Amino acid sequence: MTKSKILLKEILDEFSQILNRITEQIKNANNIAVIGHVNPDGDCVGSQLGLVLALNKIGKNAIPINEGKFKGIYKEYYEKHFEKDITNEYDLYIILDVPNKDRAGGFSNKIDFQKTIVIDHHITNDNFGKINWVSDKFIATAEMVFILLISMDFDFKECEVSQYLLNALLSDNGFFQHIRNDKYLSLLVSYLMIENGADSKISYDLMFSNNSIETEKLFALALQRLSSIYDGNVMWTYLTEEDKKKFDYPNFESGLVFREMMSIRGVKVSVFFKIDEEQNKIDISFRSTDDVDVSQVAASFGGGGHKVAAGVSVNGEFLDIKKQVFEKLEKILQKT
Ligand code: 5GP
Ligand code: MN
Repeated sequence: MTKSKILLKEILDEFSQILNRITEQIKNANNIAVIGHVNPDGDCVGSQLGLVLALNKIGKNAIPINEGKFKGIYKEYYEKHFEKDITNEYDLYIILDVPNKDRAGGFSNKIDFQKTIVIDHHITNDNFGKINWVSDKFIATAEMVFILLISMDFDFKECEVSQYLLNALLSDNGFFQHIRNDKYLSLLVSYLMIENGADSKISYDLMFSNNSIETEKLFALALQRLSSIYDGNVMWTYLTEEDKKKFDYPNFESGLVFREMMSIRGVKVSVFFKIDEEQNKIDISFRSTDDVDVSQVAASFGGGGHKVAAGVSVNGEFLDIKKQVFEKLEKILQKT
């Protein structure tokens, strides 16, 4: 047996019980809602559409549901495939990349939680499903969906399932930025996806060769406002709703800004504030190097995420919120 086959077998064995339970539920269902989190990212939409396509191929009536808002490339290429609300009853609700009920969206009260399967890789997941497969061994939910399909002997030929899942995986692992020795699975799973027909160049072009002039102008504005605090350990910047209106681009996606902020020498944490003064709302996104856990900071405001990528939406006044965020960050930095 090749090394990759041995590793795959180990994973299938480790999770065999939960994979069997999930497969059983899928077999017994016809109408299946596949739900993701609000403000979906690449892992969320790719996992949803990959799974829906696979379920359709094996004869199920599966529907992808996501409330949005879709931004950047997700608006351009993915949004059209989704329903925005739950308007029917389903035999089964598979909820992907969602750490808690609230993050599923405003329609979560229409979900029959006795019929739910949650598949997620967030450490902050509160196991709100009937069946929960939650493991932070995986860098992306797409890896889990792929492993599930392998365990079901899904035939990946002549369909886009592997491509959707590879797009999703590479989006969450930042094209292998977040690989660590204990998270080698991304390497194995992406290899298997490519073996099953996916093309990493297609994923790359989708993510990195798709900017509009408006994106670049907003990006430039965010970079002009870049500030450094705590001896260069923390970089931060902001954009407002007004900025987005000025450049007529409400769908700005923050990946570009984070890539630049995290490329600065000595940086440990980047913070990006998206300010909506009219609504008195601020979306705060965090990225960090491996040695600072920003999910703690996000969680202290009621949000969540991962050690190196986290976020939260808060109501309040910018200067006040900024002060609180920086104080929390300072405390965490002192401990590292
Ligand atoms: P982003 O900065 O891309 O919006 O989010 C980064 C990570 O933080 C993602 O994994 C996302 O799931 C998580 N995240 C962002 N906003 C929230 C939030 O309001 N609540 C929770 N629980 N997680 C969030
Ligand atoms: Mn994810």
